[in-house]
Amino acid sequence: MENNYISIRNLKKVYTSGSGIFSGGKHQLKAIDGVSLEIRKGKTLGLVGESGCGKSTIGRCLIRLTEPDSGEAIYQGIDIMKIKKSEFTPYRKKFQIIFQDPYSSLNPRMTVGDILKEIIKFHNPNKKKEIEDKCYKLLEVTGLNRNSINKYPHEFSGGQRQRIAIARALAVEPEFIVCDEPVSALDVSIQSQIINLLKDLQKEFGITYLFISHDLSVVKHISDDIAVMYLGKIMEFSEKEKLFSELYHPYTKSLLSSVPKPEPRNKSRAEALKGEIPSPLNIPSGCPFHTRCPQVIDICTELFPSKRGSDNHYAYCHLINDKTSGIK
Ligand code: SF4
Repeated sequence: MENNYISIRNLKKVYTSGSGIFSGGKHQLKAIDGVSLEIRKGKTLGLVGESGCGKSTIGRCLIRLTEPDSGEAIYQGIDIMKIKKSEFTPYRKKFQIIFQDPYSSLNPRMTVGDILKEIIKFHNPNKKKEIEDKCYKLLEVTGLNRNSINKYPHEFSGGQRQRIAIARALAVEPEFIVCDEPVSALDVSIQSQIINLLKDLQKEFGITYLFISHDLSVVKHISDDIAVMYLGKIMEFSEKEKLFSELYHPYTKSLLSSVPKPEPRNKSRAEALKGEIPSPLNIPSGCPFHTRCPQVIDICTELFPSKRGSDNHYAYCHLINDKTSGIK
């Protein structure tokens, strides 16, 4: 794809659990199982899937909050997964993260001004007046009042706290922000305000986002490209417009059918998702979606499908016909 910013290649992360004597032996939890993705500069890659599918682990690996077991993430010709942690500081300034629950990531004993000043000083020592001016500028661009500077996080609503978290991420003038379920805990009306704010900031500062969510309807609003993930693997990837004009993968169709519609009588042909996602400790053989797939065929239980489609829109499903790049 054109204009690549970060190229993720075959990223893997396995957690080992239950090594105690009462645990009945060690278990391996495959959080990311060979993920490859392209993130375009100045664009938003939406990463969507149910809880526990490994999407947050990808975001955490990219900013080295979690160490992958293997794989690459190429940024400006450098594999940032191989950089020593002690040498990652310059990248930490460029790469930021916003979490789902801003309250737990904001120090309750610090005012908003102190929270912002702390991070500005850490990354770029400036004169006192410059730091203060920058704080006010950050409040302005994130839609917060100037008098917020002397208030504590508990004095704000959930949406306002997420604005503070965004202001903090912007304080170091990042190129790339991992947005990890940033609106999941907010009311629907506030969700759209935060998404619009993120879009405005992208337009103004050219920031690249990895936007992680379990909600395809939210991802649709902010993304340029969308990757759909299930049990550690990418199931479908596409430019947004192409994805919604022709869905390839039964899992993506089921996710879309699970989105509440304004007119419930207007039923989609695809079946909504049934049952729980299997445990990542015991991933089904073959295509991991076969235990819930309404279109499962014999081969699905034995063999993981190869990649079918084009660079701009591909999926992993035995039902996809290579010649037409569509469902048979
Ligand atoms: Fe369903 Fe088989 Fe396609 Fe997997 S490979 S999504 S089980 S049809």
